[in-house]
Amino acid sequence: MRGRAGTGTAPRIACLAAFVACAAAAVAGQGGGASTVASGSAPATVQSLHVQGNVWMLVGGGFVNAAVQIGSDGVLVVDTMTDALAEPMLAEIKRLAGDKPIRWIVNTHPHPDHTGGNAKVAAAGRSIIAGNFAGQAGQAAANFAQIIAHENTGNRLAAIQPALPVHATPAETFFGTRHEFFFNDEAVQLIHVPNAHSDGDVMVFFRKSDVLAAGDLYVNSTFPVINTAQGGSIKGVLAALNTIIDVTVPRRKQEGGTFVISGHGRLADEADVVEARDMSTIIRDRYAEAVKKKQTLAQAKAARLVRDYEGRYGAAQGFWTTDAFVEAVYRTIGGPLAKEGQ
Ligand SMILES: [Zn+2]
Repeated sequence: MRGRAGTGTAPRIACLAAFVACAAAAVAGQGGGASTVASGSAPATVQSLHVQGNVWMLVGGGFVNAAVQIGSDGVLVVDTMTDALAEPMLAEIKRLAGDKPIRWIVNTHPHPDHTGGNAKVAAAGRSIIAGNFAGQAGQAAANFAQIIAHENTGNRLAAIQPALPVHATPAETFFGTRHEFFFNDEAVQLIHVPNAHSDGDVMVFFRKSDVLAAGDLYVNSTFPVINTAQGGSIKGVLAALNTIIDVTVPRRKQEGGTFVISGHGRLADEADVVEARDMSTIIRDRYAEAVKKKQTLAQAKAARLVRDYEGRYGAAQGFWTTDAFVEAVYRTIGGPLAKEGQ
């Protein structure tokens, strides 16, 4: 959807374009809601929006997104936000799911704004361990929801100092590009894209609900976020966006169909991701040209080759500035390990 307020797809869509500003409307709207828990001075709020099928989008503190799939088997949570948001997140899940237990947590990547709530959310859940496995795993293991992640994300979470409690780290990791299972009567596909936002990203596709939770492989509140220190690259980001476009199918007039939950920003569909892919391709090509002309990083920054996109995605301050994005693109044009000037 492209922010076409007032056309066909009902106020829900218009509201999504400015989701944060629409808190009151979301609370009043069907299938949406919010839970607030006071933590320190600022209240931490998690809002929810029913996307379609079994899947809800959760928005924490107005800046980070997660997803839940709810059904007769229980609850699957994609990303756990921050430690401060974990309690309102759990309250909101309870509001939506009642007493259904949280069984699984998928971490799309290791960053603290997506995994910081792992300890609390896992502790609030219960894993499915029965028969012989209960004996092997020990009774305590069943008292937590189990976390699944790509191997590289598992390793990064395990390396955090001071160490996280064991239940806050993935019990199940996979390598390769796919991991699949069935939960709540639907196929759930974890799709890994190497060296994109980080080196351990997965997107989660709920096949029957037709919703994809993209983690930070797709964001629409800033330029694509590339963590070069953890193996991210513009090439991988482009591969991720193209993978999302492969998976998503639009409904009429390129609107709706498969919905995409961004890591940060609003709910999206394929047309939005196509725009992000096209922008990323154009920017990649511009900096490839600059690198070919042997421009230094300083020269490439000064040339402001992304100026036509800065109004929409740029930032002079904050977590992900235009300069940080330009530097990440420039450094990774030649691959994830490219050094300045190469
Ligand atoms: Zn991230």
